[in-house]
Amino acid sequence: MAPKLKDPSLLKHDACYINGEWKPARSGKTFEVNDPSTGDLIGTCAECDAEDTKSAIRAAADAFTSFRSTTGRERAKLLRKWYDLMVENSEDIAKLITWENGKPFADAKGEATYAANFFEWFSEEAPRSYGDTIPATVPGNRVWTIKEPVGVCGLITPWNFPAAMITRKVGPALAAGCTVVCKAPGETPYTALALAELAHRAGIPKGVVNIVTTLANTAEVGEVLTTDPAVKKVSFTGSTGVGKLLMKQSSSTLKKLSMELGGNAPFIVFDDADIDLAVAGAIASKFRSSGQTCVCANRIYVQAGIYDEFVRSFTEKVTAFKVGHGFAEGTTHGPLIHDRAVSKVEAHVKDAQSKGGKLLIGGQKMPDLGANFFQPTVIRDATPEMAIATEETFGPVAALFPFTTEKEVVDMANRAEVGLAGYFFSRDLQRVHRVAEALEVGMVGINTGIISDPASPFGGVKESGFGREGSKYGIGEYQITKMITYGGM
Ligand code: NAD
Repeated sequence: MAPKLKDPSLLKHDACYINGEWKPARSGKTFEVNDPSTGDLIGTCAECDAEDTKSAIRAAADAFTSFRSTTGRERAKLLRKWYDLMVENSEDIAKLITWENGKPFADAKGEATYAANFFEWFSEEAPRSYGDTIPATVPGNRVWTIKEPVGVCGLITPWNFPAAMITRKVGPALAAGCTVVCKAPGETPYTALALAELAHRAGIPKGVVNIVTTLANTAEVGEVLTTDPAVKKVSFTGSTGVGKLLMKQSSSTLKKLSMELGGNAPFIVFDDADIDLAVAGAIASKFRSSGQTCVCANRIYVQAGIYDEFVRSFTEKVTAFKVGHGFAEGTTHGPLIHDRAVSKVEAHVKDAQSKGGKLLIGGQKMPDLGANFFQPTVIRDATPEMAIATEETFGPVAALFPFTTEKEVVDMANRAEVGLAGYFFSRDLQRVHRVAEALEVGMVGINTGIISDPASPFGGVKESGFGREGSKYGIGEYQITKMITYGGM
Protein backbone atom coordinates (compact mmCIF):
# COMPACT_ATOMS: atom_id res chain seq x y z
CA MET A 1 0.00 0.00 0.00
CA ALA A 2 1.20 3.57 0.68
CA PRO A 3 4.98 4.17 0.88
CA LYS A 4 6.75 4.50 4.21
CA LEU A 5 6.57 7.98 5.71
CA LYS A 6 10.30 8.54 5.90
CA ASP A 7 11.40 6.68 2.78
CA PRO A 8 14.33 8.83 1.61
CA SER A 9 14.07 7.56 -1.94
CA LEU A 10 10.85 9.51 -2.23
CA LEU A 11 12.44 12.94 -2.73
CA LYS A 12 10.06 13.99 0.02
CA HIS A 13 10.61 17.46 1.47
CA ASP A 14 8.33 19.36 3.80
CA ALA A 15 10.10 22.74 3.72
CA CYS A 16 9.55 25.26 0.96
CA TYR A 17 12.25 25.89 -1.64
CA ILE A 18 13.45 29.48 -1.86
CA ASN A 19 16.68 30.78 -3.38
CA GLY A 20 18.07 27.26 -3.73
CA GLU A 21 17.53 26.42 -0.04
CA TRP A 22 14.99 24.37 1.88
CA LYS A 23 13.33 26.64 4.43
CA PRO A 24 10.50 26.30 6.93
CA ALA A 25 7.86 29.05 6.90
CA ARG A 26 9.07 32.15 8.78
CA SER A 27 6.14 31.74 11.14
CA GLY A 28 7.15 28.13 11.81
CA LYS A 29 3.59 27.11 10.95
CA THR A 30 2.77 23.98 9.00
CA PHE A 31 -0.29 22.35 7.45
CA GLU A 32 -1.28 18.73 7.14
CA VAL A 33 -1.38 16.76 3.91
CA ASN A 34 -3.59 13.67 3.88
CA ASP A 35 -3.98 10.63 1.67
CA PRO A 36 -7.37 11.18 -0.05
CA SER A 37 -7.97 7.41 -0.11
CA THR A 38 -7.57 6.77 3.59
CA GLY A 39 -7.54 10.18 5.21
CA ASP A 40 -4.20 9.19 6.81
CA LEU A 41 -1.62 11.85 7.43
CA ILE A 42 1.16 11.90 4.83
CA GLY A 43 3.07 14.69 6.50
CA THR A 44 3.14 18.42 7.20
CA CYS A 45 4.39 21.20 4.93
CA ALA A 46 5.49 24.80 5.45
CA GLU A 47 2.53 27.16 5.79
CA CYS A 48 4.01 30.07 3.82
CA ASP A 49 2.56 33.55 4.11
CA ALA A 50 2.94 36.91 2.39
CA GLU A 51 6.47 37.44 3.76
CA ASP A 52 7.72 34.04 2.59
CA THR A 53 6.23 34.73 -0.82
CA LYS A 54 7.88 38.15 -1.04
CA SER A 55 11.21 36.59 -0.17
CA ALA A 56 10.71 34.02 -2.96
CA ILE A 57 9.86 36.85 -5.38
CA ARG A 58 13.02 38.76 -4.35
CA ALA A 59 15.10 35.61 -4.93
CA ALA A 60 13.52 35.16 -8.36
CA ALA A 61 14.07 38.85 -9.22
CA ASP A 62 17.75 38.66 -8.21
CA ALA A 63 18.25 35.47 -10.18
CA PHE A 64 16.57 37.00 -13.23
CA THR A 65 19.30 39.63 -13.60
CA SER A 66 21.76 36.93 -14.68
CA PHE A 67 19.46 34.12 -15.87
CA ARG A 68 17.91 36.39 -18.51
CA SER A 69 21.30 36.66 -20.23
CA THR A 70 22.07 32.94 -20.38
CA THR A 71 21.95 31.52 -23.88
CA GLY A 72 19.10 29.34 -25.07
CA ARG A 73 21.59 26.52 -25.38
CA GLU A 74 22.62 26.80 -21.71
CA ARG A 75 18.98 26.81 -20.60
CA ALA A 76 18.29 23.84 -22.86
CA LYS A 77 21.02 21.85 -21.12
CA LEU A 78 19.55 22.64 -17.69
CA LEU A 79 16.05 21.61 -18.76
CA ARG A 80 17.39 18.46 -20.38
CA LYS A 81 19.21 17.53 -17.17
CA TRP A 82 16.04 18.14 -15.17
CA TYR A 83 14.13 15.99 -17.68
CA ASP A 84 16.66 13.16 -17.36
CA LEU A 85 16.36 13.25 -13.57
CA MET A 86 12.57 13.16 -13.78
CA VAL A 87 12.73 10.10 -16.01
CA GLU A 88 15.25 8.42 -13.69
CA ASN A 89 13.06 9.17 -10.67
CA SER A 90 9.68 8.72 -12.29
CA GLU A 91 8.65 5.80 -10.03
CA ASP A 92 9.25 7.90 -6.92
CA ILE A 93 7.47 10.91 -8.38
CA ALA A 94 4.56 8.62 -9.23
CA LYS A 95 4.47 7.29 -5.67
CA LEU A 96 4.08 10.81 -4.35
CA ILE A 97 1.39 11.60 -6.94
CA THR A 98 -0.67 8.52 -6.02
CA TRP A 99 -0.16 9.11 -2.32
CA GLU A 100 -1.36 12.70 -2.21
CA ASN A 101 -3.69 12.81 -5.23
CA GLY A 102 -5.13 9.29 -5.08
CA LYS A 103 -4.94 8.39 -8.78
CA PRO A 104 -4.00 4.77 -9.64
CA PHE A 105 -0.24 4.16 -9.64
CA ALA A 106 -0.20 3.28 -13.36
CA ASP A 107 -1.85 6.62 -14.16
CA ALA A 108 0.58 8.42 -11.84
CA LYS A 109 3.51 6.87 -13.72
CA GLY A 110 1.90 8.07 -16.94
CA GLU A 111 1.64 11.57 -15.48
CA ALA A 112 5.29 11.57 -14.34
CA THR A 113 6.40 10.78 -17.91
CA TYR A 114 3.97 13.26 -19.46
CA ALA A 115 5.18 15.94 -17.03
CA ALA A 116 8.85 15.27 -17.83
CA ASN A 117 8.09 15.53 -21.54
CA PHE A 118 7.37 19.26 -21.17
CA PHE A 119 10.96 19.78 -20.02
CA GLU A 120 12.24 17.77 -22.96
CA TRP A 121 10.02 19.67 -25.41
CA PHE A 122 10.98 23.10 -24.09
CA SER A 123 14.67 22.20 -23.84
CA GLU A 124 14.40 21.84 -27.61
CA GLU A 125 12.48 25.11 -28.03
CA ALA A 126 14.86 27.21 -25.90
CA PRO A 127 17.62 27.64 -28.52
CA ARG A 128 15.14 28.29 -31.34
CA SER A 129 13.58 31.54 -30.26
CA TYR A 130 13.80 33.59 -33.40
CA GLY A 131 12.89 37.21 -34.09
CA ASP A 132 11.98 38.79 -37.43
CA THR A 133 13.69 41.06 -39.91
CA ILE A 134 11.02 43.46 -41.15
CA PRO A 135 11.27 45.40 -44.43
CA ALA A 136 10.93 49.04 -43.28
CA THR A 137 8.62 51.47 -45.04
CA VAL A 138 10.93 54.39 -44.19
CA PRO A 139 13.95 54.56 -46.54
CA GLY A 140 17.23 54.07 -44.71
CA ASN A 141 15.65 52.37 -41.72
CA ARG A 142 16.20 48.81 -40.60
CA VAL A 143 13.62 47.08 -38.38
CA TRP A 144 13.90 43.83 -36.49
CA THR A 145 12.45 42.09 -33.45
CA ILE A 146 14.02 40.09 -30.67
CA LYS A 147 12.41 37.87 -28.03
CA GLU A 148 13.11 38.70 -24.42
CA PRO A 149 12.01 36.90 -21.26
CA VAL A 150 9.10 38.65 -19.57
CA GLY A 151 10.67 38.47 -16.07
CA VAL A 152 9.62 36.91 -12.77
CA CYS A 153 6.57 34.67 -13.20
CA GLY A 154 4.02 33.72 -10.54
CA LEU A 155 2.67 30.24 -11.28
CA ILE A 156 -0.40 28.78 -9.58
CA THR A 157 -1.47 25.21 -10.33
CA PRO A 158 -4.15 22.70 -9.23
CA TRP A 159 -3.92 19.29 -7.56
CA ASN A 160 -5.39 17.15 -10.36
CA PHE A 161 -2.07 16.82 -12.20
CA PRO A 162 0.38 17.61 -9.40
CA ALA A 163 3.47 17.30 -11.64
CA ALA A 164 2.32 18.07 -15.18
CA MET A 165 0.52 21.32 -14.41
CA ILE A 166 3.80 22.64 -12.97
CA THR A 167 6.18 21.45 -15.69
CA ARG A 168 3.81 22.74 -18.40
CA LYS A 169 4.46 26.24 -17.02
CA VAL A 170 8.00 26.00 -15.65
CA GLY A 171 9.38 24.38 -18.85
CA PRO A 172 8.52 27.27 -21.19
CA ALA A 173 9.24 29.89 -18.52
CA LEU A 174 12.81 28.68 -18.04
CA ALA A 175 13.28 28.07 -21.76
CA ALA A 176 12.43 31.75 -22.32
CA GLY A 177 14.87 32.89 -19.60
CA CYS A 178 12.29 33.73 -16.92
CA THR A 179 12.54 32.88 -13.24
CA VAL A 180 9.56 31.56 -11.29
CA VAL A 181 7.74 31.41 -7.99
CA CYS A 182 5.28 28.50 -7.93
CA LYS A 183 2.49 28.30 -5.42
CA ALA A 184 1.93 24.58 -5.08
CA PRO A 185 -1.60 23.27 -4.48
CA GLY A 186 -2.33 22.70 -0.78
CA GLU A 187 -3.60 19.19 -1.50
CA THR A 188 -0.51 18.00 -3.42
CA PRO A 189 2.59 19.96 -2.33
CA TYR A 190 4.93 16.96 -2.10
CA THR A 191 5.07 16.36 -5.83
CA ALA A 192 5.91 20.04 -6.38
CA LEU A 193 8.68 19.87 -3.78
CA ALA A 194 10.04 16.69 -5.35
CA LEU A 195 10.34 18.56 -8.65
CA ALA A 196 12.28 21.27 -6.79
CA GLU A 197 14.63 18.64 -5.36
CA LEU A 198 15.35 17.44 -8.90
CA ALA A 199 15.79 21.05 -10.11
CA HIS A 200 18.40 21.42 -7.38
CA ARG A 201 20.20 18.24 -8.45
CA ALA A 202 20.03 19.37 -12.09
CA GLY A 203 21.98 22.50 -11.17
CA ILE A 204 19.23 25.02 -11.89
CA PRO A 205 20.81 28.23 -10.48
CA LYS A 206 19.55 29.39 -7.11
CA GLY A 207 16.50 31.63 -7.22
CA VAL A 208 15.48 30.54 -10.72
CA VAL A 209 12.88 28.09 -9.38
CA ASN A 210 11.16 28.77 -6.05
CA ILE A 211 8.27 26.79 -4.55
CA VAL A 212 6.02 28.09 -1.80
CA THR A 213 3.45 25.87 -0.11
CA THR A 214 0.33 26.89 1.79
CA LEU A 215 -3.15 25.82 2.63
CA ALA A 216 -4.63 28.43 5.01
CA ASN A 217 -2.81 31.40 3.44
CA THR A 218 -3.67 30.59 -0.18
CA ALA A 219 -5.53 33.85 -0.81
CA GLU A 220 -2.81 35.93 0.88
CA VAL A 221 -0.03 34.26 -1.12
CA GLY A 222 -2.11 34.63 -4.30
CA GLU A 223 -2.59 38.31 -3.62
CA VAL A 224 1.15 38.90 -3.27
CA LEU A 225 1.89 37.01 -6.49
CA THR A 226 -0.72 39.01 -8.41
CA THR A 227 0.07 42.48 -7.01
CA ASP A 228 3.84 42.58 -6.36
CA PRO A 229 5.32 44.84 -9.08
CA ALA A 230 8.38 42.56 -9.41
CA VAL A 231 6.15 39.79 -10.81
CA LYS A 232 5.62 40.47 -14.51
CA LYS A 233 3.56 37.47 -15.49
CA VAL A 234 0.98 35.26 -13.80
CA SER A 235 0.04 31.88 -15.22
CA PHE A 236 -2.85 30.16 -13.51
CA THR A 237 -4.49 26.78 -13.96
CA GLY A 238 -7.62 26.16 -11.95
CA SER A 239 -11.27 27.08 -11.67
CA THR A 240 -12.86 29.92 -13.61
CA GLY A 241 -13.97 31.68 -10.40
CA VAL A 242 -10.45 31.87 -8.96
CA GLY A 243 -9.08 32.81 -12.39
CA LYS A 244 -11.37 35.84 -12.54
CA LEU A 245 -10.28 36.92 -9.06
CA LEU A 246 -6.58 36.62 -9.93
CA MET A 247 -7.14 38.54 -13.17
CA LYS A 248 -8.78 41.36 -11.25
CA GLN A 249 -5.94 41.43 -8.73
CA SER A 250 -3.33 41.39 -11.52
CA SER A 251 -4.86 44.47 -13.16
CA SER A 252 -3.34 46.78 -10.52
CA THR A 253 0.12 46.19 -12.03
CA LEU A 254 -1.09 45.10 -15.48
CA LYS A 255 0.65 41.74 -15.55
CA LYS A 256 0.86 39.52 -18.59
CA LEU A 257 -1.56 36.65 -17.96
CA SER A 258 -2.31 33.10 -18.98
CA MET A 259 -5.53 31.55 -17.69
CA GLU A 260 -6.13 27.81 -18.06
CA LEU A 261 -9.58 27.50 -16.50
CA GLY A 262 -12.50 25.14 -16.10
CA GLY A 263 -14.15 23.14 -18.85
CA ASN A 264 -17.47 21.40 -19.53
CA ALA A 265 -16.54 19.36 -22.56
CA PRO A 266 -19.21 18.19 -25.01
CA PHE A 267 -18.57 14.69 -26.36
CA ILE A 268 -20.70 14.00 -29.44
CA VAL A 269 -21.25 10.61 -31.06
CA PHE A 270 -22.90 10.75 -34.48
CA ASP A 271 -24.82 7.88 -36.08
CA ASP A 272 -21.99 7.33 -38.57
CA ALA A 273 -19.33 6.79 -35.88
CA ASP A 274 -17.42 3.62 -35.12
CA ILE A 275 -19.36 2.81 -31.94
CA ASP A 276 -16.67 0.70 -30.26
CA LEU A 277 -14.10 3.42 -30.81
CA ALA A 278 -16.54 6.04 -29.53
CA VAL A 279 -17.30 4.03 -26.39
CA ALA A 280 -13.58 3.54 -25.68
CA GLY A 281 -12.95 7.25 -26.27
CA ALA A 282 -15.82 8.29 -24.01
CA ILE A 283 -14.66 5.97 -21.22
CA ALA A 284 -11.11 7.35 -21.39
CA SER A 285 -12.19 10.96 -21.61
CA LYS A 286 -14.90 10.78 -18.95
CA PHE A 287 -13.35 8.59 -16.28
CA ARG A 288 -9.61 9.31 -16.41
CA SER A 289 -8.53 10.47 -12.93
CA SER A 290 -12.07 9.61 -11.80
CA GLY A 291 -13.44 12.44 -13.89
CA GLN A 292 -11.18 15.07 -12.35
CA THR A 293 -9.58 16.52 -15.48
CA CYS A 294 -10.40 19.86 -17.05
CA VAL A 295 -10.78 18.26 -20.48
CA CYS A 296 -13.09 15.48 -19.22
CA ALA A 297 -16.20 14.72 -21.26
CA ASN A 298 -18.92 16.30 -19.15
CA ARG A 299 -21.87 16.08 -21.54
CA ILE A 300 -22.03 12.98 -23.73
CA TYR A 301 -24.44 13.53 -26.66
CA VAL A 302 -25.38 10.43 -28.65
CA GLN A 303 -27.47 10.49 -31.84
CA ALA A 304 -30.85 8.77 -31.61
CA GLY A 305 -30.13 5.94 -34.10
CA ILE A 306 -27.31 4.49 -31.97
CA TYR A 307 -28.31 5.80 -28.55
CA ASP A 308 -29.49 2.52 -26.99
CA GLU A 309 -26.57 0.52 -28.35
CA PHE A 310 -24.06 3.11 -27.12
CA VAL A 311 -25.67 3.30 -23.68
CA ARG A 312 -25.58 -0.50 -23.31
CA SER A 313 -21.95 -0.88 -24.37
CA PHE A 314 -20.75 2.16 -22.37
CA THR A 315 -22.47 1.00 -19.19
CA GLU A 316 -21.05 -2.49 -19.58
CA LYS A 317 -17.52 -1.06 -19.69
CA VAL A 318 -18.13 1.02 -16.55
CA THR A 319 -19.32 -2.11 -14.71
CA ALA A 320 -15.81 -3.55 -15.13
CA PHE A 321 -14.05 -0.69 -13.27
CA LYS A 322 -12.23 -1.53 -10.07
CA VAL A 323 -12.39 1.41 -7.67
CA GLY A 324 -9.87 1.44 -4.84
CA HIS A 325 -6.68 2.77 -3.32
CA GLY A 326 -4.27 3.90 -5.99
CA PHE A 327 -1.57 1.51 -4.74
CA ALA A 328 -3.88 -1.53 -4.58
CA GLU A 329 -3.35 -4.19 -7.24
CA GLY A 330 -5.81 -3.88 -10.13
CA THR A 331 -7.24 -0.48 -9.18
CA THR A 332 -8.51 1.29 -12.27
CA HIS A 333 -10.08 4.30 -10.55
CA GLY A 334 -9.19 6.09 -7.33
CA PRO A 335 -10.98 8.44 -4.93
CA LEU A 336 -12.00 12.05 -5.37
CA ILE A 337 -9.70 14.63 -3.88
CA HIS A 338 -11.84 15.65 -0.89
CA ASP A 339 -15.32 15.57 0.61
CA ARG A 340 -16.39 18.82 -1.13
CA ALA A 341 -15.78 17.12 -4.47
CA VAL A 342 -17.87 14.13 -3.36
CA SER A 343 -20.72 16.43 -2.30
CA LYS A 344 -20.75 18.19 -5.67
CA VAL A 345 -20.88 14.90 -7.55
CA GLU A 346 -23.67 13.62 -5.30
CA ALA A 347 -25.65 16.84 -5.82
CA HIS A 348 -25.33 16.54 -9.62
CA VAL A 349 -26.60 12.95 -9.53
CA LYS A 350 -29.59 13.85 -7.32
CA ASP A 351 -30.41 16.87 -9.48
CA ALA A 352 -30.31 14.76 -12.65
CA GLN A 353 -32.54 12.10 -11.12
CA SER A 354 -35.05 14.70 -9.93
CA LYS A 355 -35.27 16.01 -13.52
CA GLY A 356 -36.00 12.66 -15.18
CA GLY A 357 -32.50 11.19 -15.63
CA LYS A 358 -32.37 7.39 -15.25
CA LEU A 359 -29.58 6.02 -13.11
CA LEU A 360 -28.11 2.95 -14.83
CA ILE A 361 -25.20 2.25 -12.51
CA GLY A 362 -23.54 3.83 -9.47
CA GLY A 363 -24.89 6.99 -7.87
CA GLN A 364 -23.67 6.30 -4.33
CA LYS A 365 -20.76 7.10 -2.05
CA MET A 366 -18.52 4.16 -1.12
CA PRO A 367 -17.96 4.49 2.64
CA ASP A 368 -16.51 0.97 2.85
CA LEU A 369 -13.56 2.16 0.78
CA GLY A 370 -13.24 5.62 2.31
CA ALA A 371 -14.99 8.97 2.67
CA ASN A 372 -13.81 10.30 -0.71
CA PHE A 373 -14.89 7.42 -2.91
CA PHE A 374 -17.89 7.66 -5.25
CA GLN A 375 -19.22 4.94 -7.53
CA PRO A 376 -18.62 5.39 -11.27
CA THR A 377 -22.04 6.51 -12.41
CA VAL A 378 -24.00 6.47 -15.66
CA ILE A 379 -27.20 8.46 -16.15
CA ARG A 380 -29.26 8.19 -19.33
CA ASP A 381 -31.85 10.55 -20.77
CA ALA A 382 -30.05 13.62 -19.49
CA THR A 383 -31.52 17.00 -20.48
CA PRO A 384 -30.21 20.58 -20.82
CA GLU A 385 -32.12 21.61 -17.66
CA MET A 386 -29.87 19.52 -15.43
CA ALA A 387 -26.99 21.07 -13.47
CA ILE A 388 -24.66 18.55 -15.11
CA ALA A 389 -25.39 20.20 -18.48
CA THR A 390 -24.19 23.63 -17.41
CA GLU A 391 -21.63 22.98 -14.63
CA GLU A 392 -18.37 21.07 -14.60
CA THR A 393 -19.04 17.94 -12.45
CA PHE A 394 -15.35 17.08 -11.96
CA GLY A 395 -16.20 13.55 -10.90
CA PRO A 396 -17.06 10.05 -12.15
CA VAL A 397 -20.55 10.74 -13.50
CA ALA A 398 -21.38 10.21 -17.17
CA ALA A 399 -24.53 11.95 -18.35
CA LEU A 400 -25.79 10.63 -21.70
CA PHE A 401 -27.96 13.04 -23.71
CA PRO A 402 -29.89 11.88 -26.79
CA PHE A 403 -30.04 14.18 -29.85
CA THR A 404 -31.39 14.04 -33.39
CA THR A 405 -29.70 16.56 -35.70
CA GLU A 406 -26.21 17.96 -36.14
CA LYS A 407 -27.45 21.52 -35.78
CA GLU A 408 -29.29 20.73 -32.56
CA VAL A 409 -26.23 19.11 -30.96
CA VAL A 410 -23.79 21.82 -32.01
CA ASP A 411 -26.15 24.44 -30.56
CA MET A 412 -26.36 22.49 -27.28
CA ALA A 413 -22.58 21.98 -27.19
CA ASN A 414 -21.95 25.70 -27.67
CA ARG A 415 -24.47 26.79 -25.05
CA ALA A 416 -21.80 26.54 -22.31
CA GLU A 417 -20.11 29.67 -20.98
CA VAL A 418 -16.80 27.82 -21.06
CA GLY A 419 -14.98 26.34 -24.07
CA LEU A 420 -11.94 24.23 -23.29
CA ALA A 421 -12.10 20.84 -25.06
CA GLY A 422 -14.78 19.26 -27.29
CA TYR A 423 -14.89 15.82 -28.85
CA PHE A 424 -16.88 14.13 -31.58
CA PHE A 425 -16.92 10.80 -33.35
CA SER A 426 -17.85 10.62 -37.02
CA ARG A 427 -16.61 9.01 -40.25
CA ASP A 428 -18.20 11.60 -42.54
CA LEU A 429 -15.37 13.74 -43.88
CA GLN A 430 -17.51 16.79 -44.55
CA ARG A 431 -19.02 16.62 -41.10
CA VAL A 432 -15.56 16.26 -39.57
CA HIS A 433 -14.56 19.66 -40.95
CA ARG A 434 -17.93 21.32 -40.34
CA VAL A 435 -18.26 20.32 -36.70
CA ALA A 436 -14.58 20.87 -35.83
CA GLU A 437 -14.96 24.45 -37.05
CA ALA A 438 -18.38 25.00 -35.42
CA LEU A 439 -17.46 23.95 -31.87
CA GLU A 440 -16.64 26.94 -29.64
CA VAL A 441 -13.69 25.39 -27.84
CA GLY A 442 -9.91 25.75 -27.82
CA MET A 443 -9.24 22.06 -28.55
CA VAL A 444 -11.11 19.44 -30.58
CA GLY A 445 -10.67 15.68 -30.41
CA ILE A 446 -12.10 13.83 -33.45
CA ASN A 447 -12.40 10.06 -33.04
CA THR A 448 -10.24 10.22 -29.92
CA GLY A 449 -10.88 10.93 -26.25
CA ILE A 450 -7.29 11.86 -25.39
CA ILE A 451 -5.85 15.09 -26.77
CA SER A 452 -3.09 16.26 -24.40
CA ASP A 453 0.42 16.26 -25.86
CA PRO A 454 3.40 18.54 -25.13
CA ALA A 455 3.69 19.18 -28.88
CA SER A 456 0.09 20.47 -29.20
CA PRO A 457 -1.25 23.85 -28.01
CA PHE A 458 -3.40 23.43 -24.92
CA GLY A 459 -5.89 26.12 -23.88
CA GLY A 460 -9.42 27.39 -24.03
CA VAL A 461 -11.78 30.08 -25.27
CA LYS A 462 -14.72 31.88 -23.60
CA GLU A 463 -14.63 31.48 -19.81
CA SER A 464 -12.09 28.64 -20.07
CA GLY A 465 -9.50 31.39 -20.33
CA PHE A 466 -6.74 32.36 -22.71
CA GLY A 467 -3.12 31.56 -23.47
CA ARG A 468 -1.66 28.32 -24.80
CA GLU A 469 0.60 25.81 -23.07
CA GLY A 470 2.89 23.29 -24.72
CA SER A 471 3.72 23.36 -28.46
CA LYS A 472 5.68 26.03 -30.32
CA TYR A 473 3.26 28.62 -28.91
CA GLY A 474 3.88 27.83 -25.23
CA ILE A 475 7.18 29.69 -24.95
CA GLY A 476 5.65 32.90 -26.34
CA GLU A 477 3.52 33.24 -23.20
CA TYR A 478 6.76 33.96 -21.33
CA GLN A 479 8.33 36.33 -23.85
CA ILE A 480 8.12 39.92 -24.98
CA THR A 481 8.53 40.74 -28.66
CA LYS A 482 10.77 43.80 -28.70
CA MET A 483 10.88 45.86 -31.89
CA ILE A 484 14.08 47.70 -32.77
CA THR A 485 14.29 50.40 -35.46
CA TYR A 486 17.68 51.54 -36.68
CA GLY A 487 17.53 54.74 -38.69
CA GLY A 488 19.74 56.95 -40.85
CA MET A 489 21.48 54.26 -42.91
P1 NAD B 1 -9.02 26.06 -7.75
O1 NAD B 1 -9.23 27.22 -8.65
O2 NAD B 1 -9.77 26.00 -6.50
O3 NAD B 1 -7.48 25.94 -7.34
C1 NAD B 1 -6.43 25.96 -8.28
C2 NAD B 1 -5.19 26.56 -7.62
O4 NAD B 1 -5.51 27.89 -7.22
C3 NAD B 1 -4.77 25.83 -6.33
O5 NAD B 1 -3.36 25.88 -6.23
C4 NAD B 1 -5.40 26.67 -5.24
O6 NAD B 1 -4.72 26.57 -4.02
C5 NAD B 1 -5.23 28.05 -5.85
N1 NAD B 1 -6.12 29.09 -5.33
C6 NAD B 1 -7.39 28.98 -4.90
N2 NAD B 1 -7.83 30.19 -4.48
C7 NAD B 1 -6.80 31.08 -4.67
C8 NAD B 1 -6.62 32.47 -4.43
N3 NAD B 1 -7.58 33.22 -3.91
N4 NAD B 1 -5.42 33.02 -4.73
C9 NAD B 1 -4.43 32.27 -5.24
N5 NAD B 1 -4.53 30.96 -5.48
C10 NAD B 1 -5.71 30.36 -5.21
O7 NAD B 1 -9.26 24.79 -8.65
P2 NAD B 1 -9.20 23.27 -8.19
O8 NAD B 1 -10.52 22.89 -7.66
O9 NAD B 1 -8.00 23.01 -7.36
O10 NAD B 1 -8.92 22.57 -9.60
C11 NAD B 1 -9.94 22.19 -10.44
C12 NAD B 1 -10.24 23.24 -11.49
O11 NAD B 1 -9.08 23.46 -12.29
C13 NAD B 1 -11.31 22.78 -12.45
O12 NAD B 1 -12.18 23.84 -12.73
C14 NAD B 1 -10.53 22.40 -13.69
O13 NAD B 1 -11.27 22.43 -14.88
C15 NAD B 1 -9.43 23.39 -13.67
N6 NAD B 1 -8.29 22.92 -14.46
C16 NAD B 1 -8.04 23.54 -15.65
C17 NAD B 1 -6.99 23.09 -16.44
C18 NAD B 1 -6.69 23.75 -17.76
O14 NAD B 1 -5.62 23.54 -18.29
N7 NAD B 1 -7.57 24.56 -18.32
C19 NAD B 1 -6.20 22.02 -16.01
C20 NAD B 1 -6.48 21.41 -14.80
C21 NAD B 1 -7.55 21.88 -14.02
